[in-house]
Amino acid sequence: MASDHNNPYHVAISQVRLVGEILGLDGGMIELLSRPKRELTVNFPVPMDDGTIKIFTGYRVQHNSVRGPCKGGMRYHPEVTLDEIRALAMWMTWKCATVDIPYGGAKGGVICDPKKMSSGELERLTRRYVSELMPLIGPHTDIPGPDMYTDAQTMSWFMDTYSMNVGHSMPSIVTGKPISLGGSKGRDEATSRGLMYCVREAMDVSDIKRKEATVAIQGFGNVGWNAARLLKDELGLTIIALSDSSGGITKLSGLDPVSVHEHKRRTGSVQDYPGATNITNEELLETQCTVLVPAAMENAITSENADNIDALILAEGANGPSTLRADKILAEKGTLVIPDILCNAGGVTVSYFEWVQNLQFLYWSNVEIRERLNEIMTYAFSKVYTTAESKDVDMRTAAYLLSINEVVQATKLRGIYP
Ligand code: NAD
Repeated sequence: MASDHNNPYHVAISQVRLVGEILGLDGGMIELLSRPKRELTVNFPVPMDDGTIKIFTGYRVQHNSVRGPCKGGMRYHPEVTLDEIRALAMWMTWKCATVDIPYGGAKGGVICDPKKMSSGELERLTRRYVSELMPLIGPHTDIPGPDMYTDAQTMSWFMDTYSMNVGHSMPSIVTGKPISLGGSKGRDEATSRGLMYCVREAMDVSDIKRKEATVAIQGFGNVGWNAARLLKDELGLTIIALSDSSGGITKLSGLDPVSVHEHKRRTGSVQDYPGATNITNEELLETQCTVLVPAAMENAITSENADNIDALILAEGANGPSTLRADKILAEKGTLVIPDILCNAGGVTVSYFEWVQNLQFLYWSNVEIRERLNEIMTYAFSKVYTTAESKDVDMRTAAYLLSINEVVQATKLRGIYP
């Protein structure tokens, strides 16, 4: 079964088949779980600043809604593909089941290069994309949120466009909004805070002392930068390497994430940070450290570099950062992998909190958000860890066994319509 497919959808299907066989699922159920429930491809025009009209392609894929409305972010990236969105939608289904929140999985994306577009062009692109998605989305059917290169401003345009189309304000249509538009306290750092709770638990079960622990993080966007900050400030770990798409930096005595963030804001990159040494993204992944956090793209860790990973714990901030072959190598090496569907589930959990608050028009304090998130992540980690130990499987297999079984049980209880 081990494979190094670079197509994330093939990886996602292989994972379902592998776990389906362990669970003894029949072929029909495995096929049902492997395919998205609904997919929409839209080609739409956007007036550009130079007066031309450009046609963009976007997708929205709903993988499964058996346990509740579909939930998943939307990404703007030149390399978005339908298969990538299908895989990400499927992983959202398992992620929501892993942390036991009542959602199914979805994902969306637009093929575009947001770094080369003006704010006006991005606004027009977003408003038209939302309008094209209107037949599929809704506060009780499919609730989008942010992902790579989309942010609170994108979500504000999203919420406004949907609201203007239905004729009244509808904050519950999208999550990741600014607080003034019904966003939840703590959403910006939620994915990284959930990751930090998982790292805390993983270090505790592995008897690793925090004072001696070092961290390397690939990707310095929303997830990477907040993870660096929280792992340093709340767990007291030493951040020794950071990177973004232009390359990385290392400093064994420790980097100050806030100061690196400011440097990136000024210069556009983490590289050339005073006092640190520039490294490549490949070198970053092979840094000797206690905790390695891939927080950028899929397929960062493959059979080609898995052997050189020199970390005790791999905390998957990104979605799908390890291929199946890499997984096998890491398991043989004894690396404790906190799988993406558990490790980065803090984001969708606080998105769920945001949606619940929007539906109730009743808002929670930061303390309440953190307590609820801590409880959910700690319980999910312990469930996955205990399953991994009792069934003698790795953490990813354990998370899949638990989450796929949840979806299978819900499907059986509902029955196949009609
Ligand atoms: P982001 O756009 O804020 O940041 C992405 C970062 O990755 C940037 O620093 C970029 O420079 C860097 N990057 C891009 N390509 C790279 C490469 N080849 N090598 C090294 N760095 C590279 O995105 P984000 O929201 O932080 O998301 C990062 C990952 O986490 C994605 O896989 C996303 O699906 C996943 N994720 C995000 C959230 C969330 O709440 N934002 C939730 C769950 C999972």
